[in-house]
Amino acid sequence: MAYDTNNIFAKILRGEASCISVYEDDKTLAFMDLMPQAEGHVLIVPKEAAENLLDLSEAGAQACILTTRRIALAVKKALGVEGIHVAQLNGAAAGQTVPHCHFHVIPHATGTVLRMHAAVRAPDDELKVLAQRIKACLA
Ligand code: AMP
Repeated sequence: MAYDTNNIFAKILRGEASCISVYEDDKTLAFMDLMPQAEGHVLIVPKEAAENLLDLSEAGAQACILTTRRIALAVKKALGVEGIHVAQLNGAAAGQTVPHCHFHVIPHATGTVLRMHAAVRAPDDELKVLAQRIKACLA
């Protein structure tokens, strides 16, 4: 299927929709998930127009995994959790809801259960504070 240039992450990448940014380089952007499954849930997207990992170039995939690792280290430090859940869904059949490739970095503290996927909107002010904490822990 052709890439949908009107998906929300494409709009964020073009600056037509806002996001609470955590990190950016020439190939990737990381921002807070608006409906986090745990406090500190971050999304990493390639700047390339690719619906999922299977459509992404090898260079784009390399850039994404490096940024995902970098963000995971910062999130772990900032939130002080023992575990980090990294997820990446390909296709609606697999549960993908936004058709632009992305990686989820979700803090997972011992004994906790992650909230439902894309279910409850977090307040912007809370997300902004978390973004600052994560940014401060980026190497
Ligand atoms: P997926 O189901 O893997 O495609 O995940 C899409 C994710 O994007 C979900 O976790 C949503 O909470 C999140 N999301 C949807 N719209 C936005 C948005 N405008 N800004 C940040 N996160 C979003």
